[in-house]
Amino acid sequence: MTEGGCLCGAVRFGVEAFNSAIFKCHCSKCRKAFGGASSAAALVREDDFSWLQGDERVREFQCESGFKRRFCPDCGSILPQYLPDYTLHWIPVGLLDSDPGVRLKQHIHVSSKAAWEVLDADTQQYREGFGS
Ligand SMILES: [Zn+2]
Ligand SMILES: [Zn+2]
Repeated sequence: MTEGGCLCGAVRFGVEAFNSAIFKCHCSKCRKAFGGASSAAALVREDDFSWLQGDERVREFQCESGFKRRFCPDCGSILPQYLPDYTLHWIPVGLLDSDPGVRLKQHIHVSSKAAWEVLDADTQQYREGFGS
């Protein structure tokens, strides 16, 4: 199991297996939520995800799209997000304590990327979501 947690350590979670490679989402909403150029994340099925500690503390901001953006109320770290339509957890990989084994494979929503960001040429780029 790959474990991860927030900056203050109050919230901990575990992942048994990843359901995708790592991608970076460059949409404007991820930029706001993560405060960076993009969000580096991987998807995990419901059965492969568990909260290990502090799940009762997790705060949730639900976007209009239904996407649930979760965060720690104590330290402000982003936490595993949730895609209800796909029953998938969207794991920000910066939260992981060790190498998850999966690697960066895709940039998505590149059409919305910040003007100042320069992307590496070796990674697949999609103008919108996955595979588009
Ligand atoms: Zn925290
Ligand atoms: Zn995004």
